[in-house]
Amino acid sequence: MSSQHPVTVRAAAKINLHLGVGAPREDGFHPLTTVYQAVGLCDDVTAHPADELSLEVDGSDWIDVDVVPTDGANLAHRAAVLLGSHHGRDLTGRLVVEKAIPVAGGLAGGSADAAAALVALDRLHDLGTSDDDLLRIAAELGSDVPFALIGGTALGTGRGELVESVGDVGTWWWVIVPSREGLSTPAVYRHFDKLFPKADPTPPDAEGLLSALRTGQPISLARTLHNDLQEPAVDLRPELGTLIEHGESEGALRGIVSGSGPTVVFLCESADHARDLAGALMRTGHPVVLVANGAVAGSHVVPSHV
Ligand code: ATP
Repeated sequence: MSSQHPVTVRAAAKINLHLGVGAPREDGFHPLTTVYQAVGLCDDVTAHPADELSLEVDGSDWIDVDVVPTDGANLAHRAAVLLGSHHGRDLTGRLVVEKAIPVAGGLAGGSADAAAALVALDRLHDLGTSDDDLLRIAAELGSDVPFALIGGTALGTGRGELVESVGDVGTWWWVIVPSREGLSTPAVYRHFDKLFPKADPTPPDAEGLLSALRTGQPISLARTLHNDLQEPAVDLRPELGTLIEHGESEGALRGIVSGSGPTVVFLCESADHARDLAGALMRTGHPVVLVANGAVAGSHVVPSHV
């Protein structure tokens, strides 16, 4: 039986604490060893009962919603189609995506929406899809979608779609600085291939970072943050390098490009430290500076307060 009430599911942005990239495989994908962390910057997807499938996108002031497709190209829409075909039926629902995650920012906002849509439609139609099936469908939608389902802190292998939660005893405070203009993930990978034509097929492992997570000490984590896509991203957008230097000179423990960029994230000692750094960056001309902590939960239903 389907729910007569709308179902809202919240999904978090991810940052990559470690992003090791290997030489492209035969299928064109780059093998990854990555450590994802879900941070408290979230999109909400609400599935309303309806006679057909439709999608609307709305968002916070700093989000350029006009560049987000509302047709079959939207990852949340694709999620609905794939979940439907898994159950052998066409799924209906009016999907309303409320975005707070910057678009094309290296924070996997589209993947978050896809994961949220899977859970929302599963509940709306009471489909009872197993976790394993949801993870399989998520992996078909994109490399970051399985992580958007599970959240927390997780090791990702394969092309990032094989995820397993890892021990993380810390509460980590981040300052997140989005860019005005997005950066295309495929373009950054192409630039990686150009800069590193002899890259090892095996991506660098995350052992140092995984140990640091178990200490709970921000300074240890700061020393082990690693992103193989940072050099190509900064080469394409030199202002990102300037921003990292600036944030570190203002006291960040460490600044790093998130995923393929262009968002830059700064690790801080504490919530107060993060708020101070955010204030300093805003005073020097960055219009949007966000503070978030991690790790937070994966895709989950938000109780309605009606
Ligand atoms: P990725 O690394 O997966 O590309 P990203 O965080 O850099 O992630 P997204 O915000 O997911 O980037 O968007 C990448 C592109 O995907 C956008 O330029 C947009 O055209 C398209 N897209 C499709 N569905 C969505 C969605 N629900 N939200 C945002 N963008 C979407």
